[in-house]
Amino acid sequence: MRPEASVLHLDLDAFFASVEQRDKPSLRGKPVVVGGVGARGVVATASYEARVFGVRSAMPGGEARRRCPHAAFLGGRFGAYREASGQVMARLRALSPLVEPLSLDEAFVDLRAAESVPGYDTATLQRVVDELRAAITEATDGLTASVGVGTSKFMAKIASELAKPDGSRIVEPGTEVALLAPMEVGVIPGVGPVTVDKLQRIGLHRVGDLQDVDVDELAQVLGRNAATALVALAHARDDRPVEAEREAKSISTEDTFERDLTDVAELTAILRRDARAVARRLTASGLFARTVTLKLRRHDFSTITRSRTLLSATDRAEVVASVAEALLAGVDVTDGVRLLGVGVAGLTDVLQEDLFAEDPPALAEADAAPGAEPTSAPDEEPEPPRRAGWTPGADVEHDEHGPGWVWGSGVGRVTVRFETRTTGPGPVRTFSEDDPRLRRC
Ligand SMILES: [Mg+2]
Repeated sequence: MRPEASVLHLDLDAFFASVEQRDKPSLRGKPVVVGGVGARGVVATASYEARVFGVRSAMPGGEARRRCPHAAFLGGRFGAYREASGQVMARLRALSPLVEPLSLDEAFVDLRAAESVPGYDTATLQRVVDELRAAITEATDGLTASVGVGTSKFMAKIASELAKPDGSRIVEPGTEVALLAPMEVGVIPGVGPVTVDKLQRIGLHRVGDLQDVDVDELAQVLGRNAATALVALAHARDDRPVEAEREAKSISTEDTFERDLTDVAELTAILRRDARAVARRLTASGLFARTVTLKLRRHDFSTITRSRTLLSATDRAEVVASVAEALLAGVDVTDGVRLLGVGVAGLTDVLQEDLFAEDPPALAEADAAPGAEPTSAPDEEPEPPRRAGWTPGADVEHDEHGPGWVWGSGVGRVTVRFETRTTGPGPVRTFSEDDPRLRRC
């Protein structure tokens, strides 16, 4: 932990949904949900108006619809998100050469590397942060970011969380322990639902409880390393550096066998179990993986690893298992396998574009249309046939009416709202799906 507050964390507010509201004036001030459109889709981002109804990231689309049936449910427009993200990261790199992006909408910045920051007193930092937030809103045509500054990554992230939405918070050195004390233990990075549960069972609910705990006692529940790390973080001791190129984090599990296994069916069953364990740990950490790795040690102790990078970041056990099985199929196991493991890497805490690609939005007029009346629970209905291209929210252009976005589609028709970032809320028109004047863009 640094003596001065020189680690900055920036997080755009409800990023995907805010981009949609920026570009679709009729949705400003209204509940918007990006993702959760397909039968198995999950919510990527909910606007603050939708969060009021309890809609959250990673929630299954069906549940989001039950909680907020009048929200606009949109597929993602990742070109637009990537463009905005690039504008934001460019502003951050103009501030400091040392920027560690965590996802499209989140990054750490090391202010020690920033020549334009003359000091770390609160007044100076506040001016730097105010200018940065204004510059980002200007560069992105109206998006807002929350910014936290502290003595470590942990504190900077806590600070930006406290600042949300559209705010800033500078945690002065020396105030960290008191600030953290009343917070729930789950605010500590790496403390997922399983650890929260373990801690609560021994009466540790708040970070302050961890600040007072006997490390030896905690070690009996969590193990020595985890206990030591957790108590350090509870005291705000975190010296992780800001790294422009982050090391690939990974999660893995492996089994060593008492005898060499040759039976493919048996090995496959073990792989599936390992895949489930890995997926559970992903889910518990709120992470999604882009790479699946198979590790295998032969009877002669030679070890081989095989990896495949997915089109889609996933936390689903069946996806991890099927990739691992495919990798296993490419390995000769007839001489016996002594160790088998499944791992995932390329971890991200945001749902990415390809998650939608993996499960293309299914379009049914009644539930695809923003503002539609609630129907029966969508996940009890058979999945409608997939029609590529008319994803709700997608950009289209009509020869006569100009640019707009897909409001809904089904039974051979497409409904478009004609408006853009710079127009006011625009009119809605319905066309035949094969209207030659209507184009996707
Ligand atoms: Mg964000």
